[in-house]
Amino acid sequence: MALIVQKFGGTSVADLDRIRNVAKRVARTFDQGNDVVVILSAMAGVTDNLIRMANQVTESPDKRELDVLLATGEQTTAALLAMTLRAMNYAAESILGHQAKVVTDCAFGNARILDIGADPIRALVQNRKIVVMAGFQGCDINGNITTLGRGGSDTSAVAIAAAIKADICEIYTDVDGIYTTDPNICPRARKMARVSYDEMLEMASLGAKVLQIRSVEFAKKYNVPVHVRSSFSDEEGTM
Ligand code: ADP
Ligand code: ASP
Ligand code: MG
Repeated sequence: MALIVQKFGGTSVADLDRIRNVAKRVARTFDQGNDVVVILSAMAGVTDNLIRMANQVTESPDKRELDVLLATGEQTTAALLAMTLRAMNYAAESILGHQAKVVTDCAFGNARILDIGADPIRALVQNRKIVVMAGFQGCDINGNITTLGRGGSDTSAVAIAAAIKADICEIYTDVDGIYTTDPNICPRARKMARVSYDEMLEMASLGAKVLQIRSVEFAKKYNVPVHVRSSFSDEEGTM
């Protein structure tokens, strides 16, 4: 039995069928006797759409209000997945960034995580709840909602995994692992079984968006084992 963090990116929760698919995978992991903390992105395209709407309201949207708006994308998927799991008779509970005590600095739109109070999530896990957390969001010391920059749910996942001392952080995405280069651009890219934190940092800094660079920094600093894999197959991904 292990404590497993599973993060699902936007394409993995792009519609209700895919959310059902995610629910089945989470339930299977839970039924195997593991404790599961799920971190979700917004549905594919939703964050872009919210930004577009804000820009239609005004040329320069207020940064605090923009974060209130963007955080709704992840709030939506967290609620929908928790509902789906509950309808399947699993004791799931959603939790938002501020409820999970994800404390960030005040840099709206690109906030850095300063601290995570592990207790709220731990308490849920100890009661054998499946925790479904909204990624990408936190709150500053004044209680304002903040977001962690594009692709920030990866960082939510790794930071939570470090805070609750999870055995592994699984990043489910639309590719089946880390390749030598972007497999959607270069068909000759090769999948790698393992990548060091430093190699991954370099790839992320060169723009490989498969992992947000800050998530790799967290993983390295706290020695979090990260497994990047496909949400559409059971194939082993990349450690
Ligand atoms: P998610 O929505 O699950 O967070 P992203 O779109 O942020 O997914 O990241 C996955 C994408 O990263 C892949 O579809 C792929 O095009 C891209 N990518 C870039 N570089 C790499 C790489 N070296 N290995 C795998 N995927 C890569
Ligand atoms: N929804 C946010 C984004 O599109 C965060 C994430 O998906 O990781 O950037
Ligand atoms: Mg991403």
